[in-house]
Amino acid sequence: MSKYLDAALYKLLAITAVLATLGCGASSGKAPASPVTKAQSDGGWSSGGGELLKDSHNPWFLKKREKVSYCIRVESGATNLSEIEIQKTFEAATKFWRSEFSAAILPDYLENDRVTLGKQDFVRVSCAADPALEIRFGPLTLGEARKLGSSSEYAAITLRTSYDRQKLVGKGLIVFTPQMHDVNGLAMPVDLWSHQSSLSLYLAMVHELGHVYGIPHLGNRGELMSESFVEDVLRSARENSLMKEDRHFFTFTKGGQRRCPEGLGAEILKSRWKEAFNLSADFACLRFQFAHEASNEILGRSLLKVFESASPTAREDLVATAELSLSSYFPYFTNQMWITPEQEFFPFEERSQYQPPYLFLFGLYSVSKTGSFELRRDAQKRALRVLFTQGAYNYSVETVIDNQIVSIF
Ligand SMILES: [Zn+2]
Repeated sequence: MSKYLDAALYKLLAITAVLATLGCGASSGKAPASPVTKAQSDGGWSSGGGELLKDSHNPWFLKKREKVSYCIRVESGATNLSEIEIQKTFEAATKFWRSEFSAAILPDYLENDRVTLGKQDFVRVSCAADPALEIRFGPLTLGEARKLGSSSEYAAITLRTSYDRQKLVGKGLIVFTPQMHDVNGLAMPVDLWSHQSSLSLYLAMVHELGHVYGIPHLGNRGELMSESFVEDVLRSARENSLMKEDRHFFTFTKGGQRRCPEGLGAEILKSRWKEAFNLSADFACLRFQFAHEASNEILGRSLLKVFESASPTAREDLVATAELSLSSYFPYFTNQMWITPEQEFFPFEERSQYQPPYLFLFGLYSVSKTGSFELRRDAQKRALRVLFTQGAYNYSVETVIDNQIVSIF
């Protein structure tokens, strides 16, 4: 399994340094202070930056089946959501990460399950019990804000307040701030977290929890762990344009939306569809629907069904099915965990198997699955490939037409 690590090494080059504090979604309309290390390049001479990452990217929790205590604190007037609704959203977010990390390949020497991500049991306790994680709806305290030392305002922030360098366990808060008056110049309703059945909260919770697992800001705008993700979610909530499908940021989207191309490029795309699926003359829309093997939807087999329809609301007809299996799997992001000098988590005798101070810990992956379409209307089969990257939401579908690989979705 460790053969994947060479590829992972290359990926490291793309990792940017962040602080242990990650604020997501500026409320002031200006960009939040970038947590990315600033390095200046000036004729080969470099200055600034160089902060040591050390343990700032370490996941807060490592042990399998470890019980992690958390609490929910709702300051008066901070949200209309009930604590139970918040708890359910938090549980859904932890489930999401558990499933995502199930695809991660760990180095051989970790396959004894000592280190697992996302497999802890979160147990809700009272905030008076000083739990490992506090989910707060309310402002930062003055002390916290001062420690943060940033003038930016945050819609949500993940704040690690302490790190046990012996046990390699972090402690801290995820704070959702109320009364967002302004996101990029748009007046915001006070309680955006309850928007669209708390879908906005779910998406922000998943993003923030990603930081707890050690994932920094990464990816392009619109991707789950991108710096502007929470801000973008809030803007969509404001415009009531969040979609149920937005829940599927890392996993393959299942239902899929009908695509009815219009305008630039529509004719080219539609002619490819017509050719690929031997479609009827009056089709206008196509929908791709995936069903995944329950045990592992990222690595397992998937079934793809393709439907056509004459309009966005017309009845759909199945035109093709395809069974897909994994064809390639490579890291898109690999975390490196700092093994502290004081740590007692990894036995000393295992040290020769990794190279302190850093340990490659887990990855997020780009996955491709291949198969062939079986068409409803003729016996011809057509090869296809589906490409998907965890966190990117979008997937692409390619097939072969006239001996050329073309993109059809
Ligand atoms: Zn963030």
